[in-house]
Amino acid sequence: MSIPSLPKLGTPPAPAPLRKIALEEHFGHPDLFMRDSEGRFETRKEATIGHLGPEYFEVVQSRLLDFDTTRLQAMDEAGVEKVLLSLTTFGIQAITDRAAAQSTACTVNDFLAERVRAHPDRYVGMASLAMHDAGQAARELERCVNKLGFKGVMVNGYSQIDSEDNLLYLDDERMTPLWEALTALDIPLYIHPRPSHNAAQYDGHPELTGAAWGFAPETAAHALRIVYSGIFDRFPTAKLVLGHLGESLPFLAWRIQHGINFSPNGRFTKKRLVDYLAENIWVTTSGNFSTQALHCTILTMGADRILFSNDYPYEDYAEGGEFIDTVAISESDRRKIAYENAMALYKL
Ligand code: MN
Repeated sequence: MSIPSLPKLGTPPAPAPLRKIALEEHFGHPDLFMRDSEGRFETRKEATIGHLGPEYFEVVQSRLLDFDTTRLQAMDEAGVEKVLLSLTTFGIQAITDRAAAQSTACTVNDFLAERVRAHPDRYVGMASLAMHDAGQAARELERCVNKLGFKGVMVNGYSQIDSEDNLLYLDDERMTPLWEALTALDIPLYIHPRPSHNAAQYDGHPELTGAAWGFAPETAAHALRIVYSGIFDRFPTAKLVLGHLGESLPFLAWRIQHGINFSPNGRFTKKRLVDYLAENIWVTTSGNFSTQALHCTILTMGADRILFSNDYPYEDYAEGGEFIDTVAISESDRRKIAYENAMALYKL
């Protein structure tokens, strides 16, 4: 005998479409980054990063170079109104030669500005900067903000200065003019992952170097260098953005600070890591569509500091969109994370 169903007494309202902005979304430049020395499209070098094969990069490259068709279609299907576009990793940061890095950054910024001008209601620009000379980086940032209308900066991890083995991180004393410009212009700086340099711990395990694992500790270490060198004590209004739900920092924040309390060099910041996570650091959901990880991040940082991102073209908008549409959080937090926080942080 079947159990009788309760009668439905009316039609409940359908949820309104969730408005979305995404800010870790990438493009490529057709001449500068996508061909090898013989002018062929480069896939093999990229394909050695992590577990991703040439088939993956064929698709990714066509998506990186598209601004007018499939990118907009993918955004539309997932209900993404606007994206902030940034040059794909490693971008300018792997160009060792100073003059080449600086001129390439300008070329790429001008290229992006043109694409943004063609779709001003859908695209917002993020600046690419060469770090060889922080004064020049600051001037290029000012040009990008004041002349090109860009709203943010994307830095692809450490910069290789003059040689591949000479790495510069953004806590370097020489970077002071850049932090001055960032705070004067009130522009958030987004640190994007790149693989660790000469990392012996991954020998024999290329599958661990990229998005699977290596990106997170490399980028978290970069952020911690900035925190524990006192950048946010010197520049209390500086704004740092990390992808992938904070590259593990929300989960590890207590343990990190606990360890720092026994710091061997006696160098302490004015505040605790959780305070900087509450005042200076924002994180995005790019490529980390985990309910548990999002809950941990909300508990550590609060929903006001979390912003939706997808990481197109390396992730599909459909998956990221579905995640933020349905993940078990309050409707208030969902709207903040999907849209409102980005509007406020980037003054859109
Ligand atoms: Mn990315």
